[in-house]
Amino acid sequence: MEKISLIIPCYNEEESLPTLYKELRRVTAHMAEYDFEMLFVDDGSKDKTLALLKEIAKRDERVKYISFSRNFGKESAMYAGFCNAAGDYVAALDADMQDPPSLLPKMMKIIKEKGYDSVATRRVMRKGEPKIRSFFARTFYKIMHKISDVDIVDGARDFRLMKREMVDAIVAMCEQDRFSKGIFGWIGFKTYWLPFENVQRVAGKTKWSFSKLFKYSIDGIMAFSDVPLKLPKYLSILSFIASLGMLIWAFVRRLAQNLPFFNWQLITGVILGCTGVILSCMGVACAYLGKINKEVKRRPQYLVRDTNKDDLILK
Ligand code: UDP
Ligand code: MG
Repeated sequence: MEKISLIIPCYNEEESLPTLYKELRRVTAHMAEYDFEMLFVDDGSKDKTLALLKEIAKRDERVKYISFSRNFGKESAMYAGFCNAAGDYVAALDADMQDPPSLLPKMMKIIKEKGYDSVATRRVMRKGEPKIRSFFARTFYKIMHKISDVDIVDGARDFRLMKREMVDAIVAMCEQDRFSKGIFGWIGFKTYWLPFENVQRVAGKTKWSFSKLFKYSIDGIMAFSDVPLKLPKYLSILSFIASLGMLIWAFVRRLAQNLPFFNWQLITGVILGCTGVILSCMGVACAYLGKINKEVKRRPQYLVRDTNKDDLILK
């Protein structure tokens, strides 16, 4: 029997857990042809989350839990889940029911019948979300789309059902500051996008403050775009062009109007020229920094989707 692992990161979710577990029991009962593992990752909760998980695990042997020593963040909780999931298929979902478990049968059907490696979910509307948060989220996705080669979809949730091969690829991405939406895009594989209407959190409050989200988006940009490192290069080109313009202007003025050569155009031109030199030196340093940044992530050189070789070497 094939096994599906469900990874659920939980941070202070005592209020949502009973509803979620009830729904998981209902959905898994309808998918009796599969074996299930519910892997709850308690991300250093300060409420009764762990006690509740222990309680459910006593009654249901499909329930497993990993409890962190402190709050490491949702990304680390998901990674712990991916590393420890035993299933042939794995899905990560939020504990607050914003990733409806009722979509699982449909997701599984798409993978089985249409030959996809994963089914990812995307909210079509951000109904119920504070306007300011939606605005910043949209702006972030627009910027990301422009400055990154990786396909990061607006409204994409971390909720997706994946085949084992894809999970192994995620585990192979062993970088420290993780940005799952980028990782899912970077590893490739065939993904089907399933849209659904935004659902409100069933209980409790969001665990993401504005500053946490801001830091997370910076992590995303730094992990999946090297455009910021190219800024000095572009600025140096601009600076050189402006410097040249100023110097020509200074020279022409002197010739045409017979003014003293030491005019403000000349001084500005010289300053811009020097700035250009400094910026191009920075550009060279940043080019190397970009390469070092790539190396230290130790991402795999390639990922294989299919092979008939038994002893394939993955590096
Ligand atoms: N979460 C976590 N660690 C954190 C923050 C959140 O494990 O530091 C979990 C949380 O318990 C939930 C999921 O990540 O299952 C999504 O969090 P939340 O619903 O607060 O985020 P939002 O839906 O508001 O983006
Ligand atoms: Mg939520």
